[in-house]
This record gives sequence, C-alpha cells and structure tokens, in this order.
Amino acid sequence: MNTAAGMPKISPLLLVNIRQLLTLRSAADGPRRGASLSEVGIIEDAAVLCVGGKIVSVGGTKDALRDPWLKKNRKKIVEIDCAGRVVLPGFVDSHTHPVFTHPRLVDFEKRIAGADYEEIAEAGGGIRSSIDGVRKASKNALTAKVFAVLEDLARHGATTVEAKSGYGLNLESELKSLEAIRAAAREWPGTVVPTFLGAHAVPSEYRGRSQQYVDLVCNEMMPAVAKRKLAQFVDVFCDRGAFSVGEATHIFAAAEEHGLGVRAHLGQLSETRLGPILRYRPASLDHMDHVNDADLSALAQSDTVATLVPGANYFLGLGRYPDARRFIASGVAAALATDYNPGSSPTLSMPMVMSLACTQMKMSPAEAIAAATINGAWALRLADRKGSVEAGKDADLAVFAVSDYREIPYWFGVNRCALAVMNGVLSGPRSS
Ligand SMILES: [Zn+2]
Repeated sequence: MNTAAGMPKISPLLLVNIRQLLTLRSAADGPRRGASLSEVGIIEDAAVLCVGGKIVSVGGTKDALRDPWLKKNRKKIVEIDCAGRVVLPGFVDSHTHPVFTHPRLVDFEKRIAGADYEEIAEAGGGIRSSIDGVRKASKNALTAKVFAVLEDLARHGATTVEAKSGYGLNLESELKSLEAIRAAAREWPGTVVPTFLGAHAVPSEYRGRSQQYVDLVCNEMMPAVAKRKLAQFVDVFCDRGAFSVGEATHIFAAAEEHGLGVRAHLGQLSETRLGPILRYRPASLDHMDHVNDADLSALAQSDTVATLVPGANYFLGLGRYPDARRFIASGVAAALATDYNPGSSPTLSMPMVMSLACTQMKMSPAEAIAAATINGAWALRLADRKGSVEAGKDADLAVFAVSDYREIPYWFGVNRCALAVMNGVLSGPRSS
C-alpha cells in the first residue's frame, strides 16, 4: 500500500561484510512447502546494494566493491558495515490487530485465575471490551497508536505488516479504524496491508441477531470500505462462538463482488470444515489449531497459506500449539505471524514468535525464518516484491547483531535486531 511516496529521496545503500546473508531465494514459483521450507539460501561475507528503494545486486563483498558503478558513485552511497552480523529479508508480519486503545489487564488476571476465552467473553471481556475504547477514540489518537505499533514491530525486524480493523464493529468506527491504518502507513517507511475485519465479533447491540449484523457488514460497511479503497482483504473470525461457515462464505461472496481478497481466522477454538471456505481461495487461514486430515490435504493442494500464531497459544496459556510438523509433512504452506492484539497475543516480536515455533512446535530455525519471511509474503500475495533478498525486490532488510542466524530464535525475550531497512529507508540505531 505504502510505496514510500512523499518520503525524502532515498540514498543508495550498501551493506557490506555481512557474515551471513539469508537470501531466501528460490527457483520454485509458489510458497515454501515441505523440505523447501528449510532452504534459506545463505551467502557468507555478503553485500547487498539498494538503489531507489529496490535491491539491485546481491553477492560477495569483494565482488560488490569491485563493481565499476559502485566505485564511481561511492561518495553518494550510504555504506553500512555489517561485520559479524546476520542480514535477512525484513519479516512479513501477515496478521496484526493494531487498532485498539487499551491493554486488557482484567482479562489477563481473570485468565490467570482460571477463566477461559469464552467465559471471559461472557463476562463482558474479550473482543467486545476493546470496542468502547475504539468507538470513543479520535482518528488521530488511533493513528498515533497504530504508528507506534508499526515502529515497535520494525524495531524487532518486521518491515511489512498486515493490519486489521475489527474493534469498531459499526460503520463509522470500522472506517475510522481503517483510516487510522492508512494515515499511520503513510508516515511509516515500511509496507502496510490493510484488512477489513468487520466480522470480528457480533457487537452487543446485535446480540442474537448475527445474520442482521452480517448483512450490515456486507451491505453497508464493505461497499464503503471498497469505495474508499481502505482495505485489500476482508477477514472473518469463523469459529465456535463467532461467525459460522455459512456467514463467512456469505461475507466472502460480498468481498469477491467488491474485488477484495479474503482471509479468515479459523480453527482456533474448534474444527471447521474447510471445503466451502477454500472455494473462495483465501490468501491465508490463520490459527489452525484444529484441522482434520482430509481438510489438511485439501489445503496442501491449494495456494492458501496456513498462518500459525503461537503467540496466542502462549499468552492464553493453552499448553498446546498448532501442529506445525503435521502441516509441513502434508505439504501445506505455513507462515508465522504475531497476531498482535490486546486480548490473546500482545507481542510485537517476530523473533519471539519464531522462538515459540522452534521450541513448542518443533520447527527448525531455518523453517521458522522462511515462514516469517517468504511465506508471510505469499500469505499477503506480495511475494513478487517481499520476503526474499533478490535483485528487483523491495529493499526490505533486517540486520541482527548475532553471528549465526540460529541465534535469532535462540535468544528469546530479548531483541537482537540492530537495524531495519524498509523500502530502502533506514530505521533504528546504526550500531549496537
Ligand atoms: Zn487475529
């Protein structure tokens, strides 16, 4: 969405002496599946040249420094010495809910004391308790919140972020939320993909009348969102206690009419039939804690990415995680995302999510990195521009102050990201 338009002219950028450059290059066209998920494409003692917000060359440091164009233009180029560091594609966080005002601390304490997700919702907590804050907030206040989230995500190495509405749940506040995402995205040098999540929960004024609320989403909210070009995707929380498969497909059909892509929250609380959902070719199905074998093989045959969000399992204290090994063995394209939100996953750290994927879901560090970069890009249908370090792609890089990529998920709960490059623009301290 944001192409860094209106940003100051970007200086050419040369990163040299990179101890390990993870290119995530692949000959195959399509998201990573099975064994290819662990191919990270390492170049040692590498260099990357970025010009005009794009990557123009990738290779060894010695070769890069001999390049005639580079020799001639050396003075105009900002050079970054990455000695002893690891560089990889900026993370693609393909699932976040950044538009809210307050942390949900009462829910947090209640859950620790033993209440479950549905009990908290019934007691007036959960998604609905974030609605009041968003409805009362000004667009400017929400914009400032979203911008701060984007900056925090970038500090942890994310350079592309999907951002959902979904705490407004009426026409005015859903539009306000998406406008706040758009306004924040314009200020941020990274790339933001906005998603309309009007079908996040049935708001209390429609309690017991979910079909009427779905009609409002399809007939009033969605046309207004599409007309203002405020979203690229439409998302639905399709699960027990949320929206049914029938309601989700009704919403997907409306999205299709408006030329919007679709994705869904699915299989978090219960097993849901995928057949009717996959007919709409969703870009991703997210959570996927519960899925049967037949649906898993249907998913493996599709282009739909399964986005696993272990931050939610961790924070909810579920003691179980999505079965990543089963997804990978079945040939399903798996991605990782933060699911940043106030109720179930208040983390801004893709490295923390990757650490959980390694220790709790038995993904290898290489698999976790591919799932957090190139497969995240596929989940947002941006793989032609994002997710790997290759000439012609957007200059989105994360520099980590570690000497081996496996340290990124290894050092959990600390941030080793030293620098992010977003569409060719530097962010964060230049040294640590
Ligand atoms: Zn979510």
